[in-house]
Amino acid sequence: MLEKLAERIARLEESATLQMAAMVRELKSRGEDIVDLTLGEPDFDTPLHIKEAAKQAIDKGITKYTPVAGFLDLRKSIAQKLHRDNQLTYTPEQIVCSTGAKQSIANVVLSLINPGDEVIIPAPYWVSYSAITHLAEGKVVTIASNVEQDYKITPAQLEAVITPKSKLFIFSSPCNPTGAVYTKEELEALAVVFRKYPNIIILADEIYEYINFTGVHASIASLEGMYDRTVIVNGFSKGFAMTGWRLGYITAPLWIAQACTKMQGQFTSGTCSITQMAGEAAMLGDMTPTTDMCAHYKRRRDLGYAQLKNIPGLKVNLPTGAFYFFTDISSFFGKKNGDITINNAHDMSMYLLSDAKVSTVSGEAFGDGNCIRFSYATSDDKLLLAMDRIAVSLAKLK
Ligand code: PMP
Ligand code: GLU
Repeated sequence: MLEKLAERIARLEESATLQMAAMVRELKSRGEDIVDLTLGEPDFDTPLHIKEAAKQAIDKGITKYTPVAGFLDLRKSIAQKLHRDNQLTYTPEQIVCSTGAKQSIANVVLSLINPGDEVIIPAPYWVSYSAITHLAEGKVVTIASNVEQDYKITPAQLEAVITPKSKLFIFSSPCNPTGAVYTKEELEALAVVFRKYPNIIILADEIYEYINFTGVHASIASLEGMYDRTVIVNGFSKGFAMTGWRLGYITAPLWIAQACTKMQGQFTSGTCSITQMAGEAAMLGDMTPTTDMCAHYKRRRDLGYAQLKNIPGLKVNLPTGAFYFFTDISSFFGKKNGDITINNAHDMSMYLLSDAKVSTVSGEAFGDGNCIRFSYATSDDKLLLAMDRIAVSLAKLK
């Protein structure tokens, strides 16, 4: 039967993060004692005022189809947030809300990329950027970086991969999976290169904006000449602990926003009416729960980093945002425990799952086969337990 499926589904890679999460769910349901560091999913509850707004939406009967790009009031509240937090001015017509930032990214890539167009993606990158590009028949052009350079690319590396076919540049800051945060000066250095190549559009994924331990979030759209060629992607899953609500958005030049609305009009229409009312409350409401959650992530970052950096054989950067450690484990390649040999990051992720009972995601899916990703969006106790178990299992590899 498989041959009856369309070629595009064969071309589509399965999400490695969701695949691993499903495997862990299955193991846990069979009673396995796994410490789950797989998914980038806040372990906090959605703030109360946001949940109340959703309940009110149901009670008021706000349960019908919505405008494709989202309620006007929601888009106005997002414009207000951009003005308040990013000093950027957008009209509601430049904002398109979607069923999660993942759909926002798919809308943009499918709206812009023709077969053969090149999409430049600094590696390590979030899994779906490359998968969606392949779906659109675009060519993924990666720029490698490593733990020594804090996983940030240099302007020279960027310029070296630009060709006349370069169409789109996709990156996240704070970054999933590395936790790296580009400073304004570092973004300006990249913008100097982009100014020489006006045809390239920048897709800036800022979904971890509020999980930033540097105290400053810089948006490339705010730099000279970049506003008219940047699409910002953002969402509610991370900063407001709303992964299950499914709400993300783009702010973009009008022509891109209109294309994305057209695309979405044939796929999903406007996202859930109740979620949108909750989203408006998040945009306009008290930010204390968000800043509190960020403080917890920072404490866990410190706890986890103190352990990881002392485990022999691991190389780790100090993440300054998001909630991941992306750890270089390549010094273990070729080592064994009994009949298990570690030849690559996938082997290491599977070894830690079976021996340490700690679930991680292999770096291959993020474009870096020397590393594995640990999410520290989990309790202090579980994090410390995971680190102890990992140290014991790694020490057994000879
Ligand atoms: N971008 C990045 C960098 C992410 O880590 C995620 C993971 N949730 C998303 C986009 C998509 O988020 P969502 O669809 O939940 O809004
Ligand atoms: N973005 C999260 C992660 O990277 C959730 C999984 C996903 O949406 O793919 O773990």
